[in-house]
Amino acid sequence: MKTLVLNASYEPLGVVSTRRAILLVLSGKASTVAASGALLHSRSVVMDAPSVVLLNQYIKVPRRRIPLTRKSALERYGHVCAYCGKYGDTLDHVVPRARGGTHSWDNVVVACFRCNNHKSDSLLAELGWKLPFELREPDLDMASLISLRWNEPQWDEYTTPWRRHQLQLAG
Ligand SMILES: [Zn+2]
Repeated sequence: MKTLVLNASYEPLGVVSTRRAILLVLSGKASTVAASGALLHSRSVVMDAPSVVLLNQYIKVPRRRIPLTRKSALERYGHVCAYCGKYGDTLDHVVPRARGGTHSWDNVVVACFRCNNHKSDSLLAELGWKLPFELREPDLDMASLISLRWNEPQWDEYTTPWRRHQLQLAG
């Protein structure tokens, strides 16, 4: 069983085992805001298993970064070639590595085999190509991540407001 942990601001922080969430509650670090309906028995107590807990004290979370891998880049760009919009499953360095381009989110896109091959070690300007978007490091939106990985209807009301909040910031 898994439990959603919210920061004191109600921002989703992550997912822990229900056992660990109970320890947080018993030690006074968190309060249950939604119970799963299941009862947990231990030697001395019977308690409602928490589905969502809220930290009693706000903790500062350092900005999380998404590592750049083939998988994370393909996922981020939805397998869409940055140059022609068709299906792509290769990574392309916008400024080619041979010409000093870095392997980082602000220089890597997804490309189809054809575009990648055609582009080779050229710069976009040399081909008259343009990127249809600005390159930047992706934000890790914890709420989206949680709803992608764990489909718990009970958590929706806690993760959805944050996704909305993020969309507004992005828009
Ligand atoms: Zn292409």
